[in-house]
Amino acid sequence: MKTELKFYTIEEICKGFIYNELEGKGLFGLNGRLTIQPEYQRNYIYADGRKDVAVIDSILKGYPIGLIYFVKTPDSRLEILDGQQRITSIGRFVTRRFAIEINDRFQYLDSLPKDVAQNFLQTKLTFYECEGTETEIKEWFKTINIAGVPLNEQELLNAIYSGPFVTKAKEYFSNSRNAKIMIWSDFIVGKVNRQDYLKTALEWISFHQKITVEQYMGQHRNDDNIVELQGYFDEVINWIDSTFKKIIPELRGLEWGRIYETYHRNPYNVDESWNRIEELLDDDFVTNRKGIFEYVLGGEQDKTLLNIRIFDERTKKSVYKKQTDEAEKEHKSNCPLCALSDTTNKTKIWKISEMDADHVTAWSKGGSTDITNCQMLCKTHNRAKGNK
Ligand SMILES: [Zn+2]
Repeated sequence: MKTELKFYTIEEICKGFIYNELEGKGLFGLNGRLTIQPEYQRNYIYADGRKDVAVIDSILKGYPIGLIYFVKTPDSRLEILDGQQRITSIGRFVTRRFAIEINDRFQYLDSLPKDVAQNFLQTKLTFYECEGTETEIKEWFKTINIAGVPLNEQELLNAIYSGPFVTKAKEYFSNSRNAKIMIWSDFIVGKVNRQDYLKTALEWISFHQKITVEQYMGQHRNDDNIVELQGYFDEVINWIDSTFKKIIPELRGLEWGRIYETYHRNPYNVDESWNRIEELLDDDFVTNRKGIFEYVLGGEQDKTLLNIRIFDERTKKSVYKKQTDEAEKEHKSNCPLCALSDTTNKTKIWKISEMDADHVTAWSKGGSTDITNCQMLCKTHNRAKGNK
């Protein structure tokens, strides 16, 4: 890959700057020769009144804003590889999209003193112009250290697999104007503009097809539609929506792709199950509330999903002491099950470290996790009882 160091003034860069308000991205600069947001770039996220202001502030104070990388395309045009956020901030300031506060007054570029505005426009920024194969450039883009907000994993994948498929997928899953986001956000956690919904959709379909997200994106890179991705995503969302009677916060961010694949073929009574879910949500011994849905979907088999509260150390010590004192008096084992056995352990006094706490009446049969329902068993007997 070839790289060349270049300097352009802000005025040159911002000549013909176009900002698309609807899509939230800067499009062109350098009098049309520069594409500010090529397909593999993420949306503009600096417009928060802090990061965009900080860029302008740095320039006015003469601080460096970091290197900006361009890619030279075969037809001698330029695309921004890294620096889109900074260039868009500068372009928006030059075209009066936002003002900055100086001496307690909000000022646009043209309300600044003439010499300050002129200095700003004549500031030379440093650029690297790179030329190379698509593979080289994308590989490099993956590894460069990006100032500001680092790209997350999905943004990197979008860059690496850029093409018609990613463009279409972003229009649907990464578009905050899509009214469906409201519904999706009942079950999915994340930010639309950081590609979290697209990431989820890709994770679900790749789980379904038993491949990785990267493989899926590679296979579909040149597709001109997202019918399959969208269809499967909608199917999972509809299933969640019709399986649970109410929308509650605990439903957000579960591994729905895996849960759907595992349980959607099972017969399921929506009303009864919801009653059971509400009971478990009220149960103080259930410490993992998010596991309740899968526990009920699976026919209440896997209690580890609920992370049932265990006995605390004080309770264990106190029960151990009581059992051991009694056992020593009666010359029998302090494990009640060993004491009943015909083995050499019949009279063995176990150390506390060799024993575990057990629910006399199991939690699933209504037994509580307090001292009245606690007994200490040797590890062997506790394990044997737990397996039943
Ligand atoms: Zn025992």
